[in-house]
Amino acid sequence: MTCPHCGASVYENDVKCPYCDSFLETGNNAYTRRPVGGPGQFTMNGPDQVNAALVVVSILIPIFGVIFGAISLGGGHPKSGKVYLILGLAAIFVFPCLMFVIPLCFALFAEIFKAFQ
Ligand SMILES: [Zn+2]
Repeated sequence: MTCPHCGASVYENDVKCPYCDSFLETGNNAYTRRPVGGPGQFTMNGPDQVNAALVVVSILIPIFGVIFGAISLGGGHPKSGKVYLILGLAAIFVFPCLMFVIPLCFALFAEIFKAFQ
């Protein structure tokens, strides 16, 4: 889309124009569904860019990463969708390992500490 104030080319999900600093009315609607080519079909608006905040959310809430990744992939954002999906799946596998390894380390350190007392 183009900025209504200065005519510069800006991303559809930009809230503010990066060139003239004016607020864009259509900003922040990157993840709204809109029908394209039939019922149930939708496209992700804006550029296929990996959002840092969503990367963090995908790691902290893996199920969100998987779901949002699948939605992004289906909505025509293969690059960022794949990132969220892989991070979400990785986090699902990594967290149980950490839950197991961290207490094990604590137990080990406790034993070592006891041995030196
Ligand atoms: Zn502008």
